[in-house]
Amino acid sequence: MAKYIFVMGGVLSSLGKGIATATIGMLLKDIGHKVTLQKFDPYLNVDPGTMSPFQHGEVFVTDDGAETDLDLGHYERFVDESLTKESSCSAGLIYETVLKNERDGIYKGNTVQVIPHVTNEIIRRMTLRDEDFDVIITEIGGTVGDIESLPFMEAVRQIRLEKGSANCICVMLTYVPYIKAAGELKTKPTQHSVYKLREIGIQPDILFCRSEKKFAEEVFKKIALFTNVPRKNVINAIDVDFVYKVPLVYQESGLAQIICEHFNLPYKEPRLEGLKSFIEATEKADKNLCIAICGKYVRHQDAYKSVEEALQHAASHLGCRLKLKWIDSERQISDNELEQSLKGVHGILVPGGFGIKEIAGKLAISKYARIHNIPYLGICLGLHGAVIDIARNLCGLSNANSTEFDPESPEPVVHLKTEAKYKELVKNKIRLGAFECVLNQDSVAYQAYGSELIQERHRHRYEINNVYEDILAEKGMVVTGRSPDGYLIEIMEYTPNDFFVGVQFQPEFKSRPQRPHPLFLEFEAAALKFADGAIEAR
Ligand code: GLN
Repeated sequence: MAKYIFVMGGVLSSLGKGIATATIGMLLKDIGHKVTLQKFDPYLNVDPGTMSPFQHGEVFVTDDGAETDLDLGHYERFVDESLTKESSCSAGLIYETVLKNERDGIYKGNTVQVIPHVTNEIIRRMTLRDEDFDVIITEIGGTVGDIESLPFMEAVRQIRLEKGSANCICVMLTYVPYIKAAGELKTKPTQHSVYKLREIGIQPDILFCRSEKKFAEEVFKKIALFTNVPRKNVINAIDVDFVYKVPLVYQESGLAQIICEHFNLPYKEPRLEGLKSFIEATEKADKNLCIAICGKYVRHQDAYKSVEEALQHAASHLGCRLKLKWIDSERQISDNELEQSLKGVHGILVPGGFGIKEIAGKLAISKYARIHNIPYLGICLGLHGAVIDIARNLCGLSNANSTEFDPESPEPVVHLKTEAKYKELVKNKIRLGAFECVLNQDSVAYQAYGSELIQERHRHRYEINNVYEDILAEKGMVVTGRSPDGYLIEIMEYTPNDFFVGVQFQPEFKSRPQRPHPLFLEFEAAALKFADGAIEAR
């Protein structure tokens, strides 16, 4: 039987609950316990696949093709484990199941209610993998007191009752603001959040208290007294300048030991070697590297989270201080403007995206990178943009387009596949999750990966149209990676340039701090050469 840790939030959102949850996983794994992490979100979308990155940040994709909350990305990067669809659940998914059960007559004429039917379905999913792990860490989205999160909290209460408090830990993340006028850290919001949690029958075992300033002993004592949480379990989660330092802060407070003692699990001091050397490399980095990212959500902090992380992982390993320059792809950008914006930029990354609005900027920037020999990594829509540009401007296919933007395009270089064998690969017409890809040995991609067979995660509807493969190749845009049966084009490279790679998949999802993604490493190594003049701009 697994032990259960539930992480809930109080006071306000955006306190870093996902990072805190990921940290617990990292510490316990480092000790040698078998852990998994899961996120339960109270919104009614069945999954985050349809949610706008403007509101909700990036959609993270697992190997098995689940479209999930971006917190799963934090979990994978911190714990260095690939998660599955079982790690992502929403109220929408719960209701979908309950309503289907109702229609199927599973409830045998009973009145279907939040308690017990909805809560039982939540409990079933939360405890589904009880046999498979030592510790199951569950983050509950939202903040204590939200109407939507009540059934989830009730499920937690019931699991604790059923499994016993020795087998469950409830962690609450709160905020302790510093009020300048009073010159004091204020504990009242934390007290009230805990009262609110107790109203629904949950006494937290551990508090993570976010604050800008370090707690004096009396602050710890006051919080402990008013919240009924033992003093040593009140942890001051002080702000850090780099998110990967969070595990060090929690570890210093003895978190892993508190958890292991509570569960009566073996404990030894976590060493966190990989993490520490990654932090050290990041802090010691002394070469400047500037990468431009061109996309539609550039003003939303988390919309390209995994891309940013992957760039950072690789930069640290190359000893580079990374600077990002955001370019809005929805604006019509002239070459002059691009020239201005790209001054001092050493590499261009065009990430994935959807919809006609953002393609104009993406086309312009990939063309600019192609003409000027600036290292270019195009991801999914970034590949599509590059193919459209080359088809139009080098191959003489002036009407070339993706049918995503012009369904009637007479030269559909990117299109929807309609063959029956394709339909078997996709879910609701989207190609989702990990697929294999075979690389040409004579390619930049092969140089990066160092192996012929790779596996990467996808999330897209449109594919490169094989009909145009030879025409594109004649002008230097060649296929260097395909599905093992040769049917799908997965990677293309513009060979006249030093580094110009477009991929149909999203490699950023697999990058980890201690194992940067090979393609990002190769891209940034080329960008560094560009910075040094070893790759010459045209
Ligand atoms: N919109 C494109 C498609 O659906 C690209 C998707 C993406 O960039 N992830 O194929």
